[in-house]
Amino acid sequence: MEGELIKVSGLQEALALKEPDAAFFAGGTGIGYKDSGIHAGKLIVIPDIQGIRDISEEDGYIRIGALVTFTDALECPLTPDYLKEALRFCGSLQKRNMATVGGNVASWRCDSYLIPTLMASGAEICLEDKDGSYRIGIDRYADERDRYADALITAVMVKAEASGDDADFKVLSRRYANTVESHAYLTIAMGRDDGEYRIGLAVKGSGIFHPDIMNWGVSWKMAHVRDDMFGTEEYKRYITCTTLEAMYEDLGGEGGSES
Ligand SMILES: Cc1cc2nc3c(=O)[nH]c(=O)nc-3n(C[C@H](O)[C@H](O)[C@H](O)COP(=O)(O)OP(=O)(O)OC[C@H]3O[C@@H](n4cnc5c(N)ncnc54)[C@H](O)[C@@H]3O)c2cc1C
Repeated sequence: MEGELIKVSGLQEALALKEPDAAFFAGGTGIGYKDSGIHAGKLIVIPDIQGIRDISEEDGYIRIGALVTFTDALECPLTPDYLKEALRFCGSLQKRNMATVGGNVASWRCDSYLIPTLMASGAEICLEDKDGSYRIGIDRYADERDRYADALITAVMVKAEASGDDADFKVLSRRYANTVESHAYLTIAMGRDDGEYRIGLAVKGSGIFHPDIMNWGVSWKMAHVRDDMFGTEEYKRYITCTTLEAMYEDLGGEGGSES
């Protein structure tokens, strides 16, 4: 780990110090990782602002503070089961105890534990920067990440689990890796919400994708997927297509997707 560790007294000081050569410090499991690719002269310890370590219910959403660890989220009865499934993709108990939900989103890794599920479920991200505070859908965050490069993620809003006979909200997630503690070469999630489908994909070595269900085959064909030690491009595309087709069927979709 590089950089000077800086403790701040509050949010405004943290935001004022956040320049391009500085990084926020949450659980430290990403920053402290050798070869993480994160190089920062200053590491700003995220201050304990209100709600940043809490999980609460808010208008059909569950608000998960950015500094909530994977272990805390797994132990909380408010955390939806579909998200717990993704939290368990992190096999290491030590890492679960330190890694934070906000840190996982900010890391935006191509083997991300949570992002595909957050995309498939229509999660929203709460951010603060020097100009104000924002709450935006994760797909928009994906497309505008440069704009929020110096923002602090304060919370992740996830849809509460649906209940009752009329419930039409379900999310399925699948992770492909050699072992539970190995890096995933594919993490795939699909959600159905009131008849609308969403997809989230993390492809090791390639990136994060959120193709539209109606023409996902088209955008997926354009995505850069490469051969590596985990498999060929052809293999990864095959697994992705068959997994998405099976998920679509399990979610009650009719007629299959256009590819
Ligand atoms: C051996 C090992 C294997 C790993 N494998 C995986 C893996 O397979 N998949 C995966 O997704 N992750 C993996 N990680 C990375 C890491 O454990 C997780 O991504 C974790 O959730 C990061 O959270 P953190 O709190 O530790 O973040 P930190 O390490 O504190 O920060 C990570 C990055 O996010 C930024 N950041 C943190 N919190 C915020 C915030 N609230 N707002 C804005 N920016 C913020 C930091 O500035 C930094 O750039 C691995 C780590 C290790 C050590």
